[in-house]
Amino acid sequence: MKRHLLTPEEKLQILREADPLRPWESLDESRHCVLCERTFTGRQVRISTDRRGRHNVNCPTEDCPSTPREWITPGNPLVDDDAWKDWVRILDELSEPTSTPKLRQKKRAATIAD
Ligand SMILES: [Zn+2]
Repeated sequence: MKRHLLTPEEKLQILREADPLRPWESLDESRHCVLCERTFTGRQVRISTDRRGRHNVNCPTEDCPSTPREWITPGNPLVDDDAWKDWVRILDELSEPTSTPKLRQKKRAATIAD
C-alpha cells in the first residue's frame, strides 16, 4: 500500500472540514488544546487516515486524544475568563461523570418547576 503524504493544501482543507466553527486561514495559525494545554500550529496537527479514507484530526501531543472541538484560538477576545471557567467546568464534568449527581438532580427539578 502506498503511503500518501498530504500536501499543505490538502492538510489545510482537512483542518477546515474538521473545524468548521473556527475556520483555519492558514497552516501557520495556532490553536490551544484545552486538554494538554499545548499551543501548536496547523502544520503540527496530526492527521491520520482510516481504512475508509476518513481523516482523523488530533492534537500533536502524543497520547492526547483531543480533536478540533477541544481547541481554542489563542488570544481570541471571545474567550474571556468566564468562558474559560465554563470550559474547565465542562471538562471536569466530562472527566468525572459520577462526581456531580446532585447538580444533575437540581437541574432536572428546575426544569420540572418551569
Ligand atoms: Zn492536546
